[in-house]
This record gives sequence, structure tokens and C-alpha cells, in this order.
Amino acid sequence: PRVIFSGIQPTGIPHLGNYVGALRQWVQLQHHEHKDTKLIYSIVDLHAITTPQSPEKLKRWKRESLAALLAIGIDPERSILFYQSSVPAHSELMWILACTASVGYLSRMTQWKQKLNLAPNSHMEDRPAESRLKLGLFSYPVLQAADILVHRSTHVPVGHDQQQHLEFARDRKLLLANHTAYPAPVHRVMSLSDPTSKMSKSHKLARSRILITDTPDEIRLKISSALTDSVHGISYDHALRPGISNLLSLFSIFDAEKRSPEQLAQAYSDTHPRLFKDMVSDAVILGLQGIRTRYIKLIDSDTHYLDHVAADGARKALQSAEETMGMVRTAVGL
Ligand code: ATP
Ligand code: MG
Repeated sequence: PRVIFSGIQPTGIPHLGNYVGALRQWVQLQHHEHKDTKLIYSIVDLHAITTPQSPEKLKRWKRESLAALLAIGIDPERSILFYQSSVPAHSELMWILACTASVGYLSRMTQWKQKLNLAPNSHMEDRPAESRLKLGLFSYPVLQAADILVHRSTHVPVGHDQQQHLEFARDRKLLLANHTAYPAPVHRVMSLSDPTSKMSKSHKLARSRILITDTPDEIRLKISSALTDSVHGISYDHALRPGISNLLSLFSIFDAEKRSPEQLAQAYSDTHPRLFKDMVSDAVILGLQGIRTRYIKLIDSDTHYLDHVAADGARKALQSAEETMGMVRTAVGL
């Protein structure tokens, strides 16, 4: 049977990039996969603490992430939805895998090298990256491999940035079935303030991203202040007009008539950018309306229900992981 695993960090409420690039597929898999396929979705709080987090904020973000996943349509009866830290087997398997991971191999990981080369940030003064960055961050791919292997996942939908980490998991089959990368999400949503980098939860500028729970006013304000260019009219060209093209992509995703970005560019080629942004806002606001309504209901009144979902997901995930750990402990001789 197929086992599909994927995760999201509780580093903030999901934004349109998370939704389009990952979460939307999670929901669709519930409808498209055979009922015997196990769907496992984790709010990966252990990954989140590889960079500094405030405890109060992390706790709040975990709940908000859970409510957001339910609001977009993850069905806890169909999918196993759980906080990573509620299943200690993730950490236990990570340790065992860490004892097989070479330091040289991990230091060649692109994401790590990028983090190493980043200039020190202001409040950390000028400490060199090697003392600023932590062992936990270095071993991020090992924990990710444990997430996948502990549930004997066969398919792992991950974005382009995570493909290399998947190779590490693939090399460590242990007793486990071969697993495959799931067709990577097609689309990267770009930042509204810098359309050449991806929209991200942890970027310091809040207006660089649209959260899936933003109010209509917030959405309109963020889109109206999105960085575009001074070229006349509307056209679709990611290299030459990244800002306008990103807005066209967003428009297309939420367009009631399901037009492609190219078709929309044709239809609105002579439109003034301000008017165009208004129309993009209308489409996004309408598209997110249902999610927002359900989210508010969950976060405001359903404390009990959220706790219940988390506990139930933990119970199912524990069971799934424990089967594997039995085999792993035997194989290792523990
Ligand atoms: P952070 O900045 O804390 O890393 P993030 O926005 O990158 O947050 P993650 O929790 O790391 O979000 O990623 C969750 C999922 O969303 C992953 O599958 C990732 O590939 C996908 N994803 C993240 N940003 C985008 C984006 N801009 N466009 C498309 N997919 C994205
Ligand atoms: Mg990320």
C-alpha cells in the first residue's frame, strides 16, 4: 500500500505559496488516492526549532497551523494529522540515522551551504556562521529522513528545495520499502515585495506574503503595494516582469473562469496596473473567503475540537511509527 508523508513547519500561518505549492495537493490527495493509501501530514515543530523560536509564539503557531490545515479541508478522519513532537519515534530514528550520516556528506547539502554563506544578521553581531548555526540545523536532512522512514512512506511530496534532502532518505533504506519523490509541486509563488525570491513565512516583511487567513482589506493592501514595474500594460513574462507575472499566476489560481496566466494577460493587456491589482485582489479575496471563515470558527470557539484532533492524530501516528521502530531496533541490535 502507498504511504504518503508530508510536513509543514509551524513558523507562521501558511501563506499562498504553501497553499499553492503544497497544501492544496494534500487536500486533493484525499480525493484522488485509493482509500487504502495512508496519508500522513505533520506539523513539524521539531524542524521549526532548528532556528530560534519564542516558546509562546511557537505554541500559538502550532495551533494556528492545525486550524489552518483543517480550514483548507484536511479531513482528520481520512488523513493522519499530528504534531511531530508528539511522536518521539521521529527523534529516536533520527538519532539512529545520525549515526550513519557522514559529516562531509551533510556539509555538502546546498541548503546548509547557503545558510553558512549568509551574512551574519544584525542582532547576532558578527559571529561567524559556524558558531551561529546549530547542530540541529546541520542535521535537518537527517530528521527529515526519519520523518519519512519512520512511517515507511512510499511517496513524499516536497518542493524543489527539498529534493536533495530526499536523496539522503533514499540512501537509507534499512528494512524499508523503496520510496519515491512525489511529483513536485508545479508552482512557486513569489514574494510580493521581491518577486525574484519565493514567498516565505519567515521573511521579515509581513506584506511580502498573503496568509490564507488574511482579511479582505489586508489582501487588497498587500496586493496594491506589491512590487511591479513601469512597463505599460499587462503581459506575462517571468524573466522580464516578475512582479506582474506573479500577480497573473495568483489571479489564474483563483480565477472563477479558470483562465491561464497567458489568457489573463491577453484579456487585460491594456489595463492600468492599479485596476489590474484590484481585480487580482477580488479573485484572491473570493478564493480565500471560505478558508478564512472556517479558520476563524476553529480558532475562536473550537479549542476542544483542536485538542481532540491533535490527540487523535498523535495516537494514529504513534502506532504507525512504533511498527517501524520495532523492526529498526531489532536490525540495529538495540
Ligand atoms: P520558512 O520560511 O519558515 O521555511 P516556508 O514558507 O518556506 O517557511 P515551509 O514550512 O518551509 O514554508 O514549507 C512548507 C511547504 O510549502 C513545502 O512543501 C515547501 O516546498 C512549500 N513552499 C514554501 N514556500 C513556497 C512558495 N513560495 N511557493 C510554493 N511552495 C512553497
Ligand atoms: Mg521553508
